[in-house]
Amino acid sequence: MTASRTQTPSGRNAHSERLAILGSSLTVIAILAIVTFLLIREHAGAQQAATRSATTIAQLIDADVLRTVELYDLTLQGLIAASQRDDLKQVSPQVRHLALFDRSTTARFKGDILLLDAQGEVLADSSRIDPKPGHYADQDYFLAHASRPDTGMFISRPRNDNGGWRISFSRRISSATGEFLGVAVASMRLSYFDQLFKSLDIGEGGILSIISDDGILLAQKPHLENDPIGRSFADRPNVQRILSERNGSFDSVSSIDSQPRLYTFSRVGNLPLTVIVALSGDDVFASWRRTALIISGATGVLCIGLLWLTWLLCRELRLRHLAEQELAQLAATDALTGVANRRMLDQTLRHEWFRAQRSGKPLSVLMIDADHFKAFNDQHGHQAGDDALRVLARVIGENVRRPADLVARYGGEEFSVVLAETDSAGAQLIAEHIRAAVEQLPCVTGLESPITVSIGISTWTTATHQSLEQLLVAADRALYQAKDGGRNRVVAVP
Ligand code: GH3
Ligand code: MG
Ligand code: MG
Repeated sequence: MTASRTQTPSGRNAHSERLAILGSSLTVIAILAIVTFLLIREHAGAQQAATRSATTIAQLIDADVLRTVELYDLTLQGLIAASQRDDLKQVSPQVRHLALFDRSTTARFKGDILLLDAQGEVLADSSRIDPKPGHYADQDYFLAHASRPDTGMFISRPRNDNGGWRISFSRRISSATGEFLGVAVASMRLSYFDQLFKSLDIGEGGILSIISDDGILLAQKPHLENDPIGRSFADRPNVQRILSERNGSFDSVSSIDSQPRLYTFSRVGNLPLTVIVALSGDDVFASWRRTALIISGATGVLCIGLLWLTWLLCRELRLRHLAEQELAQLAATDALTGVANRRMLDQTLRHEWFRAQRSGKPLSVLMIDADHFKAFNDQHGHQAGDDALRVLARVIGENVRRPADLVARYGGEEFSVVLAETDSAGAQLIAEHIRAAVEQLPCVTGLESPITVSIGISTWTTATHQSLEQLLVAADRALYQAKDGGRNRVVAVP
C-alpha cells in the first residue's frame, strides 16, 4: 500500500450518534404519548361535564312535567269523584258545574276538560255550563279506556285542533262493579313545553325534545322544519336506542343533520314520556378542541426542535469524528512522501509482531536504502532529492499491495516495509520487484546510471526465536551486506 494505514475506525462516535438519536426519539415518543394521554383524558372530562349538565336539564324538565301531569291527574280525579256524587244531581247546573270543575283551575296550559258518558257523548264541559254536544267515541283515549279497565291515566297522541297542538290526559269512570261509565278527559296545549324549554340553555347546536313511548314527537327546541310535532321517530336508530334504554347517555351521529351529538335522556317518572337532551359535539368539545390545538402545536414545535437539536448534535459529532480521523492520519503520515512515518512503523511492527507470535505465521521486514543518495543530492540539489524520494515511495507502494502490509519512511533516504504473514521467499520476491522497478525508472538528466536501491530482508518464523529488536537488527545487517555486495541488490537473512 502507498499511504499509511488508516486508523481502525473507533465506533465511539457512531455509538454516541446512535445514542443521541435513540435518546431523542424515545423522548419525542414519551412526550407524544403523555400529551395524547392528557388530551384523551381532557376529552373524556369534557364529555363527562357535558353529560352532567345535560342530566341536570333533563331532571329539571322531568320534575316540572311530573308536577304538571300530577295537577291534571288531580283535576281528573276531582271531576270523576264529583260526577259520582248523587247529591249533585239535585243542585242547579251552575253549582254542579262549579263542583265538577272545582280543581281544574290550577292546571297550566289547560284546554277543555270534558266528562264523557259510556257512548262518548259530552256530559259536562269545563268551558260552558251548557255542554256543546259532541261525540268522542272514536278518540284513542276513549277506545283505550273502554277496552281496558286497568289503563290508569292515559296520555293521548298529540292532535292539532283549533290552531294549536294538544295532548289529552284521561281517566276511566267505572261503576262500583267495574262497569264502564265513561271518561274524564283534560287537554293540555303543547305550548306548555315551549314555555318550559325557553329558560333552558342547551348551546347553539343543541336540541331538546320530548317523545312519547311510540316515538312521537311532542315538543322540540328549536323547532326543526323536517321534524314536525306529532310525527313518529320510532324508525330512527338513536330514538330506538333511547326508548329501549330509558335513562342514560351516549354519543352518536344525528340522523337529522349528520352532526355528532351527545344524547342524554331520561324517562319522566312512570309516564310514557322521555326527555332527550342532544348537545352538539361542536359545542361540547369546542374548548377542548382549542386546548388540543394549542397543546398539539406547542408539542409539535417542541418535538421538531428536539429532533433538530439532535440532528445538529449528530452533525457536530460527525465533523469532530472526521477532524479526529484527519488528525490521526496526519500524525501517522510522513509529510514528504505520504507513506507512514516512523511512529506508525513502530506501532505497526509491534502489532504485527504480537500477531505473528499468536498465529505462528511468518513476518518479514524489508529495509530499503537508496544507493549513493548523498551524491545524488549533491549533484542535483535537495529539491530533486526530495522528488526522487517521493518517486521511490510511490514505486515501493505500487509493489506492496496487501491491505495488511505497511510502507514507511524509516528516516532520510531509507524506507521500511512490513510484510505480515509473508515468508522469506515471498519477501524476496517483493523486494526484487521493488529493486527492479526502481532500476527501471527513467534516468535523471545528467546521470548516466539510474537511481538504485539496496534491500535487506529479515524474516521471523517460529524457528528463528528472534525478538523484534533482533529482527530489525538482522534486516539492517542484511541491508549492509547488500551495500557491501555492490548495491542494487537484495539480501535476505533468516
Ligand atoms: P549509500 O547509502 O549507497 O551507502 O550512500 P548514501 O550517499 O546514500 O549514504 P548516506 O546514508 O551517507 O547518505 C544519505 C544521504 O541522503 C544524506 C542526505 O544528503 C540524503 N538525504 C537524507 N534525507 C534526505 C531528505 O529528506 N531529502 C533529501 N533531498 N536528501 C536526503
Ligand atoms: Mg542511508
Ligand atoms: Mg543511501
